[in-house]
Amino acid sequence: MSYVITDACTKDLECVKVCPVDCIHPKDDEPEFAGAAQLYIDPEACIDCGACVPVCPAAAIHPSDELPDDKASFAKLNADWFAGRG
Ligand code: SF4
Ligand code: SF4
Repeated sequence: MSYVITDACTKDLECVKVCPVDCIHPKDDEPEFAGAAQLYIDPEACIDCGACVPVCPAAAIHPSDELPDDKASFAKLNADWFAGRG
C-alpha cells in the first residue's frame, strides 16, 4: 500500500513540505515540475504515514486501497512516473 495523488492536485507543494521521506515529486526545483500535470508519490518510498493527507487543500491524496472508483487509475499513474528513475 502507499498513498496516491489524483488529478485534483494543484501543485501547491504543501504535501512535499511534510513528507518525512521526500517521496513526492516533481518538486519545484526539478526540471519536470513545470510540465507535470500534478505531483506523484513514489509507492516504493512512501512509508504510509498519512502526514500528507490533512495538509492537502484539494483533498487530492488517498490511500491506494481507498481510491474513489473514478480515480483508480491514479495508483498506476503515480507508480509509472517513477518507473526507471531509481
Ligand atoms: S498538497 Fe495536494 S494539491 Fe498540494 S501538491 Fe500535494 S497533492 Fe497537490
Ligand atoms: S503518506 Fe507519508 S510518506 Fe507517503 S507520501 Fe504521504 S507524507 Fe510521504
